[in-house]
Amino acid sequence: MIYCDIHTHRLPLKDSDGRFVLLNRIFGKDELLPAPVRQSLGIHPWYIKEAAGKERLLSEYLGKPSVWAIGEAGLDKGAEAPFPLQEKVFREQAEWAEEKGKPLIIHCVRAWSELLAARKALHPRQTWIVHGFRGKAELAAQLSAQGLWLSFGERFQTAALKAADPQRLLVETDESLLPIALIYHRLALALETEEADFAAQVLRNYTGLFPNIL
Ligand SMILES: [Zn+2]
Repeated sequence: MIYCDIHTHRLPLKDSDGRFVLLNRIFGKDELLPAPVRQSLGIHPWYIKEAAGKERLLSEYLGKPSVWAIGEAGLDKGAEAPFPLQEKVFREQAEWAEEKGKPLIIHCVRAWSELLAARKALHPRQTWIVHGFRGKAELAAQLSAQGLWLSFGERFQTAALKAADPQRLLVETDESLLPIALIYHRLALALETEEADFAAQVLRNYTGLFPNIL
């Protein structure tokens, strides 16, 4: 089985992590690693201060081939940074995603209507992926209907997993200590589907998102 992890912070990367892993780096906090490590890079809403004034450098980094996605960028009602500033920083990153032609990985906490409003205003062509989705079924269905992709990890609601569009579904470890294989196992069990079928679907989604990865 081929495992795909759209979002992890775990280092060092191990063979058991799977073949397709996107290591997330928080700009202003983490260093970008050299190729061939595949990474996502962006300004996390908790680290806006650390990134301030370095936007030009970030934009340059985002163009590098080792950066496969922008993010995690986001909106978080619990973060210290003022919300309007978060919205500005998020918009900027969404625009970079368009400019660089790379998907956007999103961290969203209690700001779903604002996220959907931003999507309506920006009309992105790039894929927007909500990572670590733990919301309810209704929200999963609503986001799926708006074209957003959802990534599930260690903690999730079964009804939400079932409500998500299978063709816009991804898997992640994020900060979890569980092996990616165990997360796949739990998700397939919750979906009452064969693990191999589930893994094949996620692989199709992942490689569809990153056709150059194969
Ligand atoms: Zn994360």
